[in-house]
Amino acid sequence: MMTGEQYLASLDDGRATYFEGRKIENILDDKIMGEAARLIAAGYDKLYRPGPDATSPLMSIPRSAEDLKARLPVVSDADIVANTTNQSIMTLMTAAGRIGDEHPEYARRIQAWIEDAQRRDIRITECITDGKGDRSLSPGKQADPDAYTRVVERRPDGVVIRGAKLHITGASLGHETMVIPTKAMKPGEEDYAIACAVPVNAPGVKIVNTSYAPRHEDDRVFPVSRQNHMPEGFVIFDDVFVPEERIFLNGETKHAGQFAHSLGLWERLGGLTFMANEADELVGFAQLIAEANGLAKVQHVREKISEMIIHATLIRGALEAAIANCVIGDNGAAFPSELYTNAGKYQAATQYNMMCRHLHDIAGGSVLTAPSIADLENNEVGPLVRKYMTANPEIDGECRIKLFHAIRDLTADAMGGWRYVTNIQAGGGLYAQRIVTRKHYDMEHAKKKALHAAKMLPEHAAE
Ligand SMILES: Cc1cc2nc3c(=O)[nH]c(=O)nc-3n(C[C@H](O)[C@H](O)[C@H](O)COP(=O)(O)OP(=O)(O)OC[C@H]3O[C@@H](n4cnc5c(N)ncnc54)[C@H](O)[C@@H]3O)c2cc1C
Repeated sequence: MMTGEQYLASLDDGRATYFEGRKIENILDDKIMGEAARLIAAGYDKLYRPGPDATSPLMSIPRSAEDLKARLPVVSDADIVANTTNQSIMTLMTAAGRIGDEHPEYARRIQAWIEDAQRRDIRITECITDGKGDRSLSPGKQADPDAYTRVVERRPDGVVIRGAKLHITGASLGHETMVIPTKAMKPGEEDYAIACAVPVNAPGVKIVNTSYAPRHEDDRVFPVSRQNHMPEGFVIFDDVFVPEERIFLNGETKHAGQFAHSLGLWERLGGLTFMANEADELVGFAQLIAEANGLAKVQHVREKISEMIIHATLIRGALEAAIANCVIGDNGAAFPSELYTNAGKYQAATQYNMMCRHLHDIAGGSVLTAPSIADLENNEVGPLVRKYMTANPEIDGECRIKLFHAIRDLTADAMGGWRYVTNIQAGGGLYAQRIVTRKHYDMEHAKKKALHAAKMLPEHAAE
């Protein structure tokens, strides 16, 4: 396995990565990109086990509901790129199981690539969402044929791909990108039915980063995001050669959708896990700030927190149900229930604004305007800030200020905005979650229940 230090050294591999108009020559020298890299390095150190046979728990394949459950603390504690690594491996395992009968060669290559990734203990990012051009048109009908990533040349030993994958979390800080079609493809769209693995430093890969990292000089103003931010990459494949053994689908339109669906399942399980933890965290902040404000016993505040608790509990219930109702695939790997994963992720995303609304409502305007800790340390105004920021005499004004800063950072500032949009869009957007939930819901059972209640079933005719 790799240590954090080895991971940081591995980033110096000639990758072409850009940030705010500059080419980054050395990731570690850049404040924001370097901080994100060190977060991933710390994750490596947390999981590190010595010895040639040690493998990362992030790379292991769950075989049962117990295995899936045992992974939850590891996944919850891991950074986001550790999670995209885990999700990428599971996506390819899932897809291999689904296409393996018809295309054993692709399944064999996937297996070999996963084993190599496990051996090298690398980080993998998920390159699925294309630029997409005009949303109402299919890939083949776009004014620019590169709007979806495609094969532009087939050679005896591989293919050349061109396109751009957008919003790719941590792309510049992984070792490999898992490139898969963003949606199902139709006959005639063979060049767009491409799945493969591309090293971040492959010639022609260029990554433009964006970040919600705080830019404030005083770290204490952003207690959460200061140490916990990850850039998103706009990943451009500018005619990149992919050798044959790294190609997992090449023109078989009928299977293009399998990869996107497989990723959707694992990405949403990851999202559901994150949001179950996030919901508990928001309940905790609501209760703490209510106590600091002296309002914890007031009826309407208690009711709002109860509503938040119910939401948090149901989201965790959906996560537990997704695991308990897992399906064991032909290749022995355990897959969470599509129904509970998608319904839970959807509910968590759509009710996130309710959670923030209640929290902001209970907390008050100081979420945005609480003075800084540096102000508290100022000899002239500090004591007055402390005096007037103390509400409940049992809770010091400084503690209340810190709670406000954390709430702002998490829900009402750069990271807060990132979370707000990410909860809705990540994992393929709400539309996809509605479709998959409906597909796996037992509609016949529901209709039968309704007909039974209405006494319209054949057996009621005799009554
Ligand atoms: C912070 C962040 C991190 C992300 N990380 C990753 C990542 O690591 N890897 C990755 O691959 N992706 C990632 N995503 C991308 C995410 O999956 C997409 O944002 C999401 O799938 C929506 O795609 P889009 O942004 O292109 O929006 P659009 O596709 O433009 O969607 C916008 C709206 O238009 C609707 N719409 C789109 N097309 C149609 C149509 N044909 N008919 C009807 N309605 C339509 C959608 O349902 C939606 O309501 C990330 C996104 C964010 C915000």
